[in-house]
Amino acid sequence: MDNVMDKIVSLAKRRGFVFPSSEIYGGINSCWDYGPLGSRMKNNVKRAWWKAMTQMRDDIEGLDAAILMHPRVWEASGHVENFTDPLVDCKTCKARFRADKLDMVQCPKKPSKHPGEHHECELTEPRLFNLMFKTFMGPVEEDASVVYLRPETAQGIYVNFDNVRVSSRQKVPFGIAQIGKAFRNEITPGNFIFRTREFEQMEMQFFVKPGTDMEWLEHWKGVRMQWYHDHGIRPEKLRFHTHEGKELAHYAKAAYDIEYEFPFGWQELEGIHNRSDFDLGQHQKFSGKKLEYFDEATKEKYLPYIVETSAGCDRSLLTFLVDAYREDEQEGEVRVSLALHPLLAPIKAAVFPLVKKDGLPEIAHQIVAELRPHMEVFYDESGAVGRRYRRMDEVGTPFCMTVDSETLANQSVTVRERDTLLQERINIADLKDHLRRKIEG
Ligand code: ATP
Repeated sequence: MDNVMDKIVSLAKRRGFVFPSSEIYGGINSCWDYGPLGSRMKNNVKRAWWKAMTQMRDDIEGLDAAILMHPRVWEASGHVENFTDPLVDCKTCKARFRADKLDMVQCPKKPSKHPGEHHECELTEPRLFNLMFKTFMGPVEEDASVVYLRPETAQGIYVNFDNVRVSSRQKVPFGIAQIGKAFRNEITPGNFIFRTREFEQMEMQFFVKPGTDMEWLEHWKGVRMQWYHDHGIRPEKLRFHTHEGKELAHYAKAAYDIEYEFPFGWQELEGIHNRSDFDLGQHQKFSGKKLEYFDEATKEKYLPYIVETSAGCDRSLLTFLVDAYREDEQEGEVRVSLALHPLLAPIKAAVFPLVKKDGLPEIAHQIVAELRPHMEVFYDESGAVGRRYRRMDEVGTPFCMTVDSETLANQSVTVRERDTLLQERINIADLKDHLRRKIEG
């Protein structure tokens, strides 16, 4: 399949998943808005993560911290000093890029197999560029009122370690999970919603006893990889990448990425890091507040180590779309479908009256009304049934139900499955349970 990304960007726009931000003003670079279906799907991704990380476990608590934090937080975390990318400009082409993302330092605007031909490009030395967005708190724009838009959600978790531990009476090992916006003034955003300057993260920080950290790192590697498998990503498209040498961040003792094979290559989807006691140590030092943990069982006092799982919500959504995109041939036409996991699909079921008469629309409306409290349903009576199926396949709706003349006779409908195209007759009275079983697996 050629140009899968182009096809997805265009489908996303046409069907209301993702629009360019401020489009009537010509758009703004790397900012995107989630439309009716996209916002539903994004909520489904977040709900699936939140459920796996909090509802299903009694050793993880949830948190929703503020985006703006005390500016000292970012000194303690190392972001003021270290959260930089090497920025290189080409004076000839006016291109700007990240030196660390290129195999060899050459201007990306002059791709050529012949190194000798690059002489006309004049590159500047790399300059370190801090990725944090700055703004001012209050009416006076002066140094003392500088605050940052958080570049990661994790720091909100670290500074609340004691609040959460004490209020929830958790004992180490335990974790804190959070979903929220983060902002990075990326030098080269791109690839649709893969890398943007405003994005959402789904992060979990797990606090453990020193010495048990590598075991927990292995545990979380397995759990997080499994989450993608469980939500329908093809396993052969996922792999681990180990951070080595210079790639290891200043805080990390060991780190892995879960990578996905995007149409533009293998790229990070989620980071799983052993952050040692760096974070609590730094916040203890900078805030002057003791953050040590007293282990009642062993009577030991220590600063917990942290194993983090840090996923991008937008990037996950892109992965789910890319991985689900299918084209197959049906009756001489190309059928486009999104084989999304039913839990993530923005519409779970569509209901069609075969014709707009004989009381069929009324029955279909009634089915919609009965299913609506339990799942996202969609009613459609316009056009041939084949076209209605196509429209639902294209947005990943896993089940389509048709009300026909047989329905009048025996109160059943056909339920057609998106991926197998199999149709079976189900009694209207059993529909809700039938669909819920299929959706929840
Ligand atoms: P890179 O080196 O590619 O800039 P990173 O290693 O700094 O990324 P992390 O800090 O580990 O990324 O961020 C954790 C996760 O947050 C990433 O795996 C990704 O899913 C998401 N993420 C990070 N930056 C962006 C961005 N600019 N746009 C969208 N998602 C992002």
